[in-house]
Amino acid sequence: MKIVRLHAIVCIIMFGVLNSWSQLRVTTTTTDLAALVETIGGDLVDVTSLSRPLQDAHYLDATPGMVVRISRSDLFVENGFELETGWVPEVLRETRNRRVRRGGEGHVDASNGIQAIQIPQSISRDQGDVHPSGNPHYTLEPVLAQQAARNIADGLIRVDGANSETYLKNLEQYIERSNEIVEKWVEKFEPYSGTSIIIYHKHFDYMLKTLGLDIVDAIEPLPGIAPSAGHVATLLSTFDSESVRAVIMEPWHDQRVGKQVAEGIGVDLVVGCPSVGSCDGANCVITLFETNAAKIYEAINATGGN
Ligand SMILES: [Zn+2]
Repeated sequence: MKIVRLHAIVCIIMFGVLNSWSQLRVTTTTTDLAALVETIGGDLVDVTSLSRPLQDAHYLDATPGMVVRISRSDLFVENGFELETGWVPEVLRETRNRRVRRGGEGHVDASNGIQAIQIPQSISRDQGDVHPSGNPHYTLEPVLAQQAARNIADGLIRVDGANSETYLKNLEQYIERSNEIVEKWVEKFEPYSGTSIIIYHKHFDYMLKTLGLDIVDAIEPLPGIAPSAGHVATLLSTFDSESVRAVIMEPWHDQRVGKQVAEGIGVDLVVGCPSVGSCDGANCVITLFETNAAKIYEAINATGGN
């Protein structure tokens, strides 16, 4: 009960009187972005995510239902950095609502102004690399996501200037809260600074970097490319429990491979929460970060820390 209340306090900001008839209709591509919209818009918005919490947004297919939802929206928010490149352009082409198309006042690319990491020197999309514009998973790190929250606030103000004060106030509170929580975890991880981690997909990289952890290798040889037996064998012959402290992966990838690597090395496998709503308690980007940080902390401690 206490935990539930704490999450409610961390996540939900409510201002104004609930007027469902006047709520803005907002559609986002992911649950993380939907949570950010709720944080900034409070009860002034009615938000829907096109992907569910345990769906990998790299691989959705455009559906007529998505077109209908976007067509009826006042604001559409996408993650950017080509996360949704396989389906959003098609949905936007099909919609008759020009305002939510790229360049329209009701369109938000939440990545605007964020500096991506891991921008490839040569684009290897032919080989299936799903990160051609750099790492798109910035919502896993709430301080980095402040810029996304700003972009969302700007979008809400463009379509609903009358409530700009509320949106800006909620943005300010989000910035304060996310700074506080991330700082708390950075301090907690300080003794483990430089601890080596193996990942599966490059999903948690921004948060691992903020926590001072060192990603030494990935089970996927390139983002979106399944590992070969040879690549797994190389990982097992290169690393041991002295050189690596945990393996972290997403629930939507083959956990047998994650287990094989973790067990072979002799460390814990952390199945992280990839998105808001994918784990109990991870109901906004701040608690998503906290849930993942706690899981990683426990795994590192289980293998003796630094
Ligand atoms: Zn990815």
